[in-house]
Amino acid sequence: MKTADVQAIFSAIRPQQVALIQAIAERPQVDDSFLHLQYDPQKQWDFGLDVLNQFGFDWNRGRLDKAEHPFTNGMGLSDVRITTRIFPNLPASGWFSTMHEFGHGLYGLGTDPKLDRSPLAGGASLGIDESQSRMWENLVGRSHEFWQFFYPRHKRCSRGSWAMSAWRRFTGGSIKSPIADPRRSG
Ligand SMILES: [Zn+2]
Repeated sequence: MKTADVQAIFSAIRPQQVALIQAIAERPQVDDSFLHLQYDPQKQWDFGLDVLNQFGFDWNRGRLDKAEHPFTNGMGLSDVRITTRIFPNLPASGWFSTMHEFGHGLYGLGTDPKLDRSPLAGGASLGIDESQSRMWENLVGRSHEFWQFFYPRHKRCSRGSWAMSAWRRFTGGSIKSPIADPRRSG
């Protein structure tokens, strides 16, 4: 795909996107102030591990580390390394970057071993790869059902460090669009 092709696509969708974002911005905003409180970095990390365990991350073929900017690096079909970044006062950033990179990692780990050491082992395209990371981050991680399951576990992880009341308020804040968040994952 050439630059001209991409420009044609974005030129066509831009008016609708701008109108949509304006319409959203004009609506009453969700109170997500509780997502900007100080939160124990170790407990954030532990919660991310819990999520990866429940997602079924294969720790025999991958690992999680911290990085300045989250990314996934496939060293081989059975050595996928994902990273996350934790901000003490922005817990949602670490949670969702962990889920995002899990999606990249799972995509890499799903490659057919028969394709190992061939150009096809890198996946169908960067676009498909990114769609998988965003599926886990946005469709799964920002879903009501996800937090219905993880909220009680999260409360155990965060005991004593975070005052939070109704879980409906919690989900309302956590699923807020990341459009304005400059700390996007890779
Ligand atoms: Zn990504």
